[in-house]
Amino acid sequence: MINFTYLRVTAVKTALALIAKDPKASFIAGGTNLVDLMKRGVTAPEKLIDINHLPLKKIELIGNVLHVGAMVANSTLAENELVKNRFPLLMLALQSGASAQLRNVATVGGNMMQRTRCGYFYDTTMPCNKRLPGSGCGAIAGYNRMHAIFGTSESCIAVHPSDMCIALAALDAKVVIAGAKGERKINFVDFHRLAGATPEKDNNLQKGELIVGLEIPVNNLNKNSHYLKVRDRSSYAFALVSVAAAMEIKDGRILDIRLAMGGVAHKPWRLNAVEDFLKGKEATVSNFEAAAKLAMTGAKGYGENDFKLTLSPNSIIEALTVAKSKA
Ligand code: SF4
Repeated sequence: MINFTYLRVTAVKTALALIAKDPKASFIAGGTNLVDLMKRGVTAPEKLIDINHLPLKKIELIGNVLHVGAMVANSTLAENELVKNRFPLLMLALQSGASAQLRNVATVGGNMMQRTRCGYFYDTTMPCNKRLPGSGCGAIAGYNRMHAIFGTSESCIAVHPSDMCIALAALDAKVVIAGAKGERKINFVDFHRLAGATPEKDNNLQKGELIVGLEIPVNNLNKNSHYLKVRDRSSYAFALVSVAAAMEIKDGRILDIRLAMGGVAHKPWRLNAVEDFLKGKEATVSNFEAAAKLAMTGAKGYGENDFKLTLSPNSIIEALTVAKSKA
């Protein structure tokens, strides 16, 4: 780990001015991923700008939109009454992430910025296009049990690691971003990127920008929702496959539905075509099975992760079945 300068800021304006002046500076919030990356030599910022004291810790319902500050801790968001009652899908996803200790310090903005847990990315003796563009991908012909089956490229088959983000993609959230030119909003599903030919870029945040909050529109999907996370152990493990499922059901028929998957792609994998297929249909296991089959269009295994080709549709059926069963 190299020596670095540490600064603490209390205003967004100051944070933006400091990062604009110094291309080798990095924001740090909870640090639950960044410090690991620094210790392993994957990244080496010369200056850390501590943003934990920015006034971005509010959770409030304004009209029909829940506004969440980027510095809200994951545990605080999961325990918030508005989230519990209106967005139980988000609560469940947050609760399934990491450990209680990590959720207490990890922030909403930091969660979105966390990087893949591909072992080759963290091992600086191995090739990795994400860490060192042009060096190759160790995982494609190597150990790829945790890797992607959707939207992969010849450069990278890594997966996005967050649980919270899968629920937010399903909930049609927006990301509020501050930069030198003011604020802009981006749909959550457009925030993270597929690897393509530029796997070093995880998301569409520009240099010098800062995530300041989230906006989540209220919906009628809170009753029948479920976040299913399949993993190697029951806590403190990343998803092999996860499914965020939420439905509005009336008289046995699906009026509205949201579906997204984690552990299968370089970004939260929203299943729009599957949602369209299920809208208006009866909430039956046979329809869930047909939907799960449709969801697998374009899926491709790389050997050790071939089991995800079976686990994924089974997880979709299970998540929808559990969501439907909730009264
Ligand atoms: Fe690197 Fe991506 Fe290949 Fe992993 S899958 S080694 S992160 S390029």
